Amino acid sequence: MGDTTKYKVEDMIGKSFNKWLVLSFSHKSKSGNWFYSCKCECGTVSSVSASNLRTGGSKQCKNCSGKQNGRRGIYAQNEGSDLYVIRCQTYYKIGTTKNIAERVRTIKAGNPFELEVVYYGLGKGKMEEYWHQHFKDKHHDGEWYCLDENDIDIINTRGCEI
Ligand SMILES: [Zn+2]
Repeated sequence: MGDTTKYKVEDMIGKSFNKWLVLSFSHKSKSGNWFYSCKCECGTVSSVSASNLRTGGSKQCKNCSGKQNGRRGIYAQNEGSDLYVIRCQTYYKIGTTKNIAERVRTIKAGNPFELEVVYYGLGKGKMEEYWHQHFKDKHHDGEWYCLDENDIDIINTRGCEI
């Protein structure tokens, strides 16, 4: 990148690099690399070198990168399943199932709130990864997303296309 600018230690603090938020200066390694104490979006704190932050050599904590790899395998497994979106209060779960009635029962079992199936696409399981990516900025937890009616419209109109 031909980065010739001389940075001050403080310049990095408070900045975000991918999932990392730089909290404070950590240490300088023997080879002269600056390390920063960084917080991943998931809350994990770890020290990351300035060059890895700037170049994107490290984008997130080990947990998160591990989860993503694991998730990819799950997406592949679910391709032939049905895609559903279930609303609970202001949260929406985007997932796949082979039996929607059974899935609703399972979610209801651990949940005191009303559930509503707002989208159900037979054999559209391969779209799960697409929608998880599409709404990643609205991700809440697990397969739950903070969506609104417009988002559901988008799924309903585009959910069957791809
Ligand atoms: Zn993380």
